[in-house]
Amino acid sequence: MNISTSTQSQETKVCKPSLIGFSRKDLSDIAVDMGQEPFKGLQLFKWIYDKGSRDFDSMTDLPQGFRNKLITAYSLKRPTIKNEYISEDGTCKWLTSFEDGQQAETVMIPEGDRITLCISSQVGCTLTCKFCYTGTQRLVRNLSAGEIVGQVLVAKEQINNCVYKNLKEKKMISNIVFMGMGEPLYNFDNIKKSVEIIKDKNGIAFSHKKITLSTSGIIPQIKKCGEEIGLNLAISLHSPEDAIRTQIMPINKKYPIKELIKACKIYTQVSNTKLVTFEYVMLKNLNDSDEDAKKTCKIS
Ligand code: SF4
Repeated sequence: MNISTSTQSQETKVCKPSLIGFSRKDLSDIAVDMGQEPFKGLQLFKWIYDKGSRDFDSMTDLPQGFRNKLITAYSLKRPTIKNEYISEDGTCKWLTSFEDGQQAETVMIPEGDRITLCISSQVGCTLTCKFCYTGTQRLVRNLSAGEIVGQVLVAKEQINNCVYKNLKEKKMISNIVFMGMGEPLYNFDNIKKSVEIIKDKNGIAFSHKKITLSTSGIIPQIKKCGEEIGLNLAISLHSPEDAIRTQIMPINKKYPIKELIKACKIYTQVSNTKLVTFEYVMLKNLNDSDEDAKKTCKIS
């Protein structure tokens, strides 16, 4: 009696991997492994990322046998929203919870017809930028590609079903920015895979021109990002002077402004996007003088 109880509890603890975060190629491979034609993987991809399906039984154009095998081996689990904070201007901040209980922020910013979604790439951060609350927390772990894409799927559903449910016309996410918790270039492989999935025309179908990666300026990864990912780049600048920028962002000691600008120029040469923007938080009596503004304009 005791033995069977313990076996049962072990079985219930086994977590089936979620297919959220699997690319079109991954799903075709799974389809083939399960005795299907590769295009069944494409159909599965469309159900997951285009239609946003939450259960295999709803995928009615897939053979029942294939669906049964998928149910046995995989789940379609997504992150969940633990808390929602809505400000007066309509900005929603969601505390997103992942399967192991770790949490990160996803933020939706409405502005006229546009909706910008800021997604997290890590839980915590190794950097200690002075203006950032996440900078006071230690790095817990990188988010997986599935957890990154999952934030987009959850936000789409939330926007359609909850935030704007009474509108006749559905509002859509117009821009995605990797600007939540964490330094995305320190989670390169998962960002790359998540962008591949988010861009895929058979699913979420988001143009690379509408996706921006915001970085504190991790120089060795910038060129690689241009070559291998290719999306809009935003640099946290915050001062034209190395001494001040290092105070605000200690990473500047390792990757100073001159080298950073050089890396940005290379980015525009190797990437399919030519857009690099610079972010500047004004901090009283530190980087907000007229002189700072003039010097910032002259950075080259
Ligand atoms: S890199 Fe981003 S998340 Fe990390 S401390 Fe700096 S601003 Fe905050």
